[in-house]
Amino acid sequence: VPPLDINQIRADFPILQQQVNGRRLIWLDNAATTQKPQHVIDRISYFYKHENSNIHRAAHELAARATDAYEGAREKVKHFLHAASVNEIVFVRGATEAINLVAQSWGEQYLQAGDEIILSHLEHHANIVPWQQLAARKGLVIKVIPVDDDGQILLDEYARLLGPKTKLVSFTQVSNALGTVTPAKKMVEMAHQAGAKVLVDGAQAVSHLRADVQYLDCDWYVFSGHKVFGPTGIGVLYGKEALLNETQPWQGGGNMIKDVTFEHTQYHAAPGRFEAGTGNIADAVGLGAAIDYVNHIGIDLIHQYEHYLLQYATQLLKDIPGLRLIGTAPDKTSVLSFIFKDFTTEQVGAALNQEGIAVRSGHHCAQPILRRFGVESTVRPSLAFYNSCSDVDTLVEALLRLRRSKI
Ligand code: PMP
Repeated sequence: VPPLDINQIRADFPILQQQVNGRRLIWLDNAATTQKPQHVIDRISYFYKHENSNIHRAAHELAARATDAYEGAREKVKHFLHAASVNEIVFVRGATEAINLVAQSWGEQYLQAGDEIILSHLEHHANIVPWQQLAARKGLVIKVIPVDDDGQILLDEYARLLGPKTKLVSFTQVSNALGTVTPAKKMVEMAHQAGAKVLVDGAQAVSHLRADVQYLDCDWYVFSGHKVFGPTGIGVLYGKEALLNETQPWQGGGNMIKDVTFEHTQYHAAPGRFEAGTGNIADAVGLGAAIDYVNHIGIDLIHQYEHYLLQYATQLLKDIPGLRLIGTAPDKTSVLSFIFKDFTTEQVGAALNQEGIAVRSGHHCAQPILRRFGVESTVRPSLAFYNSCSDVDTLVEALLRLRRSKI
């Protein structure tokens, strides 16, 4: 077992100390959102007690403190993603907003009728709908990379879809519905060879795998703070600096301008040009604290430990009579998705809730990939480093009890 002190780690997460329905809470809904360590909660509280101010504008002590805290968080994100410069880190509301930003700024500016966008069959709705909306406005064509029966990207099919009309490839690094890890570096390389830009959706990746945008060489990378032990309402758009600077701004307002007259406005360089208005300063600072916490534990250790836990859970779930696992790729992180014969996914979710176990049952905002496997809904336990083999055992026992109740 990779050496993580789970009891020590659990003690860092106040919400995990609770009882739910008379049982110890077992949080297995990490793909939907993660819980927050005391360190993050304290950091946000410290901000409001000691630093709160709007940033950049006012020439007083608290403005300086708030600005330092906010820009310090940007620096932390830069290191976390291994970006080349802080100018490549734009704070947004989350992964969804980041993708919409790219679609509505770069997409509006550069794409024309007949151009093609390639997505994968694994995508979350957040990486489908903004492109569909853009395609409808501009007359673009969307093509979809199929997956095999284990839920893995079919690279040969992808190669066949790429062509001179491909302007953009946008895909997820980790599937939120199945846990598949995609061959992101290879996919980026193939897109670039075809002359297309690439957006990688890291929403499900950054809490499980070491993120490295320079290694991936993607043009944009997006994630949400709340899925990596940080607050809701804050997320990140990474973009290569030159690309961000040649892209027209998205929203207009304060902060993003150098100079305004009624005739003409000059915009700031990135990241400022994409941060119109007062941003979510406190939660950006909270995200910085979450990154500190992850670094303190170590993302490589987290990766090893979760891999071990996923193997353990997969073996046990496989042996439960009537349970069909969906998404059986060898390269996966943290997500298990299944259906259970004789029970609806809602019934399974409700039965587990009775035992204090939180899982998501539903379509996970990824209807196309579930339909690829002939289902509308699955039960989805998803793991984080504060989960243990004993959490998995409790899940398995609850499922076995449910099975016996039918016999
Ligand atoms: N992409 C993926 C792969 C996701 O899992 C999610 C969240 N479930 C999103 C995008 C959207 O993230 P958010 O709702 O935080 O904007």
